[in-house]
Amino acid sequence: MAILSPRSGVQANNSFERRPRFASDRTEHFVESVIREMSRLANKYGAVNLAQGFPDFPAPASIKQAAIDAINADINQYPITWGLKPFRDAIARKYQSTYGLTFDPETEITVTCGSTEAMIATLLATTNPGDEVIVFEPFYENYFPDTQICGATRRLVTLHAPHWTFEPEELRRAFNSRTKAIIINTPNNPTGRVFSREELGFIAGLCQEFDAIAITDEIYEHILYDGLEHTPILSLPGMRDRTVLINSMSKTYSVTGWRVGWTLASADLSASIRKVHDFLTVGAASPLQQAGVHALASDASYYADLSTHYGERRELILEILTEAGFQPLRPQGAYYVMADISKFGFENDRAFAMHLVENIGVSCVPGSSFFETPGVGDQWVRFCFCKKIETLEAARERLKALKH
Ligand code: GLN
Repeated sequence: MAILSPRSGVQANNSFERRPRFASDRTEHFVESVIREMSRLANKYGAVNLAQGFPDFPAPASIKQAAIDAINADINQYPITWGLKPFRDAIARKYQSTYGLTFDPETEITVTCGSTEAMIATLLATTNPGDEVIVFEPFYENYFPDTQICGATRRLVTLHAPHWTFEPEELRRAFNSRTKAIIINTPNNPTGRVFSREELGFIAGLCQEFDAIAITDEIYEHILYDGLEHTPILSLPGMRDRTVLINSMSKTYSVTGWRVGWTLASADLSASIRKVHDFLTVGAASPLQQAGVHALASDASYYADLSTHYGERRELILEILTEAGFQPLRPQGAYYVMADISKFGFENDRAFAMHLVENIGVSCVPGSSFFETPGVGDQWVRFCFCKKIETLEAARERLKALKH
């Protein structure tokens, strides 16, 4: 028997709302991804797609060439289930050179089909039904079905606008003897928040006090603005053996469709994750892992240029949205902007997003898809800006028709 979740009532138009025949209980109370639904609607209405976070410009030529070369070199069969050895070595080298962190490629690195698989495999490998998992709200929408499939109970802790910070006391109260894990996504989707070393230190202390693990989604690690730096919580004292660090090639190398991600964790944690991963997917695409060897060897200028590139687009989208009557918040990292829509006078975020995609020709993501608490997402929509300048300019033109 499934427990009724408030979230199942939020997206009333979602096509997965009706329970299909033969469906299992575990599928009943989550809905189709609203992010991907908004991409589909963008295609249907010919709208400028600022909903789903994927680049509309080409991936780096040398990385594409490395994948073509790998296919031609016949790296086309199953890799070892936990990842092609040269790619695991490349991952180890990258974390050694970037953070001075040492991982054993044989026992501590597992290559997955994107960070999406990494997250669900980790949760399946570490939680039992009834365990509690702390999730900051707003959250990347996958964490809802991920925890639900595991039968884990989400304990929500609010990130407060406009700076998207949490109250330390609220976080402390969320921890208890049933807490198994906390999910941390920094730089954060959808808010762009970059957690400070002090905040991560506080979380690390609670994880140790309550014997919980940290599961971190660090896929926007290299997309940072205003001179901010990324700190993996795994690098803080006492966290090496109680953190699963998740990352992927998708955002850093602009290859979101490749589906190549990884987990870094102690040999013990990795052994459990590998068991789940093996039976879920066997492995990520071999030639793309081989291309990852080349990508992960990029020099520091590649990563600096990435932040500069997105930093320019951040300024542009903030200008465009402000001009159009939104009240956007300036992100510290990642490539999304949360924009307040209260001034437009719509019933809620979903009604607004539907108007925008159907009548104005711009697609965004309704804020409620990042919240479980009913009502609190209604004033927000999320725009992504990982797009060509001309795409953002096309959105500017269309948004001129929006009344405010
Ligand atoms: N991470 C991206 C977003 O938030 C894409 C998610 C997805 O569709 N896998 O838009």
